[in-house]
This record gives sequence, structure tokens and C-alpha cells, in this order.
Amino acid sequence: MILQSSGQNFKPWSEYVKGFRQELERQSPIPIEVQSFPVVIASGSESAENRLAEYLNALFSSHPPDLIVAFGAPAAAFAQRHRRDLFPSTPMLLTAIDQRRVQQMNVTENDTVVAVWIDVPALFENILKVLPRTKTIAVVIGSSPNEQFWVQEMKNQLEPLKGRVDLLFWNELSFEEILKQAATLPKDSAIFWIQPQIDVTGAVHEGERALKRLYAVANSPIFSHDDSFFAGEIVGGPMTSVSQGSQTAAAVAAKILGGTKPRAIETPVLQYGPAKYDWRELRRWAIPESRLPKGSEILFREPTLWELYRWQILAICAAVLSQAAMITGLLYQRRRRFLAEVQARQRMSELARINRYSMAGELCTSIAHELNQPLGAILLNAETMEQMLRSSRLSDATELLGIVSEIRRDDERAGKVLQHIRSLVRRVPIDVKPLDLNEVVSETLDFLSSLAIARKVQIRHSLAELPLPVKGDYTQLQQVLLNLVVNALDATAHKAVNERVITVQTKRSDNWAEFSTADTGPGVPPEQLSKIFEPFFSTKPNGMGMGLSIARTIVEFHGGIINIQNRSSGGAIVIVRLPLIR
Ligand code: ADP
Repeated sequence: MILQSSGQNFKPWSEYVKGFRQELERQSPIPIEVQSFPVVIASGSESAENRLAEYLNALFSSHPPDLIVAFGAPAAAFAQRHRRDLFPSTPMLLTAIDQRRVQQMNVTENDTVVAVWIDVPALFENILKVLPRTKTIAVVIGSSPNEQFWVQEMKNQLEPLKGRVDLLFWNELSFEEILKQAATLPKDSAIFWIQPQIDVTGAVHEGERALKRLYAVANSPIFSHDDSFFAGEIVGGPMTSVSQGSQTAAAVAAKILGGTKPRAIETPVLQYGPAKYDWRELRRWAIPESRLPKGSEILFREPTLWELYRWQILAICAAVLSQAAMITGLLYQRRRRFLAEVQARQRMSELARINRYSMAGELCTSIAHELNQPLGAILLNAETMEQMLRSSRLSDATELLGIVSEIRRDDERAGKVLQHIRSLVRRVPIDVKPLDLNEVVSETLDFLSSLAIARKVQIRHSLAELPLPVKGDYTQLQQVLLNLVVNALDATAHKAVNERVITVQTKRSDNWAEFSTADTGPGVPPEQLSKIFEPFFSTKPNGMGMGLSIARTIVEFHGGIINIQNRSSGGAIVIVRLPLIR
């Protein structure tokens, strides 16, 4: 039979009863029937008390309980007063009660006590330790007989604090008044919470609601003596432990039910365990952890973002890092590729120059022929002039002037040939500018004419009527055509002289400026078609295999396309297309 102080939901006793029942159920080898009775007694009403005792007696008359457990001082007071007529032979356990509230004189042979000790000075020292500037402490407490005892007890115990802090006891105030006062406490105040059971107006305050209402309006931190209130509103400190109290009481109850005589069980008075603090309240009131007593527990610590999302954060960091690494890698590769491209272009222009050198060798015969002609003419003219001078035909000055102008013309022609050779073998930087493709082709063909004569090949040409504007480097484009024509000359070499024909054509084709060289040679064997643009591919005994490869590099550098086909009429045709500019 459980006798519970006040109503079913009165804290802290409701919590003690809950814990006690759970623990007893856990410890008992047999099922135990528990009947719980709230001891709610109008103050000083003896007849009501007697009737409650009679009621309990009537209820259990045929089967007296095996154990009576009274929780809290009001229930204990009732049970002790009525011990003689309340199943005196049944063992009784008084618990959840301060040692001072037990009437030691009335403890019988059949009774035992599991008491606590509310160390009042320790509770208030805690407040002054964590908030050293505190000047005012308001005690929230009701005015029932039990509470009146505690008001007096606290006043006595806290006597030494006089002068150090102002202590306000709000036992004479209604709860509504208490709320008003709590909202307007002076700076550096604290509130000490003892659940007001019955306030001066007779209003009863149950459960957590009262504390929550106070918390909502209070302008100062709240402390308490019992950890059943420690759930979000209380800063913390040393407190009576509900779980320790209920577990100890359940262990004693189990012993009694097992046959141990109550008097034989001596339970030391329960003291406070390590102080407990609410991390959120410490933050709210800016209380540094260094101020807390050694060994304190800090509860309700809110996990940091890192604690909450450690894996997500790590995963994101890993992703970002690997991306950064990838980007760095790609940038590095890009830079390497860029350098490689620069190097390749340098090599290409070097090779192109070597290619032009060999071309100059190839062209040597025709160059010699080209130079011989003007030089021979100059010599002839010089001799004619000499004869004229010797024969003193000086009167005919006009004739002399004609000869001089011929010499000058031939000299210019020889100079042009030399200029061509120079432009072929000189190391020239790439110079891209707008050009007319027709001009490049016709000037190059001029230059090639002697070579064609020497090789006994006929070069025909058909140029587009309108200019073909392209953007490009003159020497490089000329080199492409030279390579193609020289290949065509080589290809026709084995043909009968009258069959050696090369046709060079320029035309506009959509947005392209096109030039092509067609020959009457043997064409390219189909299996070689895919290889001939590769560097060092050659079928000629002294060939370098660079001509077409360089031609393709140059054409692609100009944004163009080059390809070779076999003509249906025999021989090969190489077509080059370059983007037209407007
Ligand atoms: P090379 O002339 O030094 O051999 P090229 O790169 O200019 O180098 O030519 C590569 C090969 O392509 C030649 O050896 C030849 O076999 C083939 N080729 C090029 N042009 C023609 C053509 N007009 N007709 C037939 N074969 C050709």
C-alpha cells in the first residue's frame, strides 16, 4: 500500500513513486500488487484524517497489505499519526522525506526509514559560487504546514548569509503575485524553487506547469533542491537524486517483502551526489564552466554542428578536396599540354624550314636557270653598250637609255629570284594577315615554272575570277602549294613526257577558298591513303616523308582541311580548303 503526499501528480513525490514501482517490479521475483493512495488532507482536519484511515482499514480488512510505503513528509505524518490503527503488524517504510521530518519518537519496531538530507546551506552556496555577484535570492514556496516548516528551517540555516544577500521568502504571496515579482527582480538576483504545494490563496500547484510558467516570465536564473525539477528550467547545482532515492527505497522494500525485519534495516541518510548543471542555462546566464565545482556533470549539452553532421561535413570536405585536387591536376595537365603544343609548333616550324631547305635544293636547277637568264641578258646588253661606246656612236643616247633600262629590268628579275630563295630558307616568325589565295598561288606557280620546264612537266592553271580572301601566313601557304606541286612532279616523273600534266586550280566553294593540284601520275594505293599524311611516311628512295605532314599541320593551323583522292581518270588530286574571310 503506497501512501503518496498530495495528489498523484505532485512533484517530486510522483517521480519517487514512479521510480520506486519500476525498480521494485525489476527486483521482485514474484508479481506485486501495488495500490496507491493520495493523502490529501485539509490542514488540521482531524476527522478527515480519521476517515481516510478508516477507509484504508475497511479496504484491506480481509487481506492486510504486506508493506506500507509512505512517500513524502505529509504522507509520513499521516501514517505515523495513525500507525496504531493502520495495520500495526504490517511493516512500514517511510521514504522521500527529509530526516528532520520523521517523528523519530513514533518510529515503531515494524518501521524503517530511507531519508534524505536537504543540505540548505550547500544549495545557496552553490548559487553564490556560480553567480558571485548575486545580491538577492527569492525563495518560491507555498504556505502548507510542510512548507511553513521549511520556510522556518531555511531562515535558520541561512542566517550566516545575512548582510551578504537579501533573502526574499515568497510564501505569503499568491502564485500569480509570485510571477509578477519574478519578472521584475532587481539586477543580480536568483530564484530558488521549492514547488509551492498550496499557496496562501489555497490554490494547489501540481506537476511541472507552475515551474514552466515561472520560467517563462522570470528575469533571473532559477535553482532548485531536487532533480525531479531539473528538466530545462533549472541552472543546476547539488540536488537530491530521485533515482538514487527510489532505487534505495525499492531495495529496502524488496528485503522486507523477502522477510527481513524492518528494524534490522539501517539505511544511511542519502546525501547529494555530484552537482549537475544544464548546459543551456549556463550559456544563457554566461556562467563559465570553470566556476562549477570539480566533478560536476553538465547535461543537455547541445551538439555542435560538427558533432551533428560530422560525417556529412567530412564527406563534403573530401568531395571539395578531391575536386580541388582534380582541378589542380587538370590545370597542370592543361599547362603541360599548352607547353607541349608550343614545343610542337616550334618543332613544326623548324621542320617546315628544313622542308623548305630541301625544297630550295630541289629548286636549285630552276633557280640557276632563273638567274642565268637575266644575268645572260645583262651581259649581252653590257657588251652591246661597250661596242657602241667604242664605235663612238654616242649621238644615239636614246638607244643607250633603252639598253640601260633593260639592264635594270633584268637586274630586278634576278633580285626577285634571290628574294624568293631568301624567303624560303630564312627563319621567319609566323605572320598571319589577310591575303588573296589567288595571288599566293599565281606567284608560287611563277616561281615553279622553271622547275616544271626542267622536269618537262606541263603545269596548267585555272584561277577563280574573283579574289579569294583568306587569313594566313604567306610563306607557309606557299610552302603547302610547293610541297603539293613537287609531289605531283615526282608522281608524273615516270610518265611519257607528253603525259606529264599538273593542273592547279583555285575556286570558291561555299564558305571555303579552295585550291587543288591534280596530276597524271599513278595515284596513291588505297591502303596507303590513310598513312601518307603521317610524318616520315615516304615511298621515295630519298624522301623525307615530311611534305604532306607539314602541309596538313599548316592547313589545320589555318583552320582548313586537306585531303587526297585518286582521280577516276588516273592520278591523284589533293584539295585544300581554307576559311574565306569577308
Ligand atoms: P615525300 O615526298 O618526302 O615522300 P610526302 O609527305 O610529301 O613525303 O609524301 C609522302 C608519300 O605520299 C610519298 O612518298 C608518296 O608515296 C605519296 N604521295 C604524295 N603525293 C602523291 C601524289 N601526288 N601521287 C602519288 N603519291 C603521292
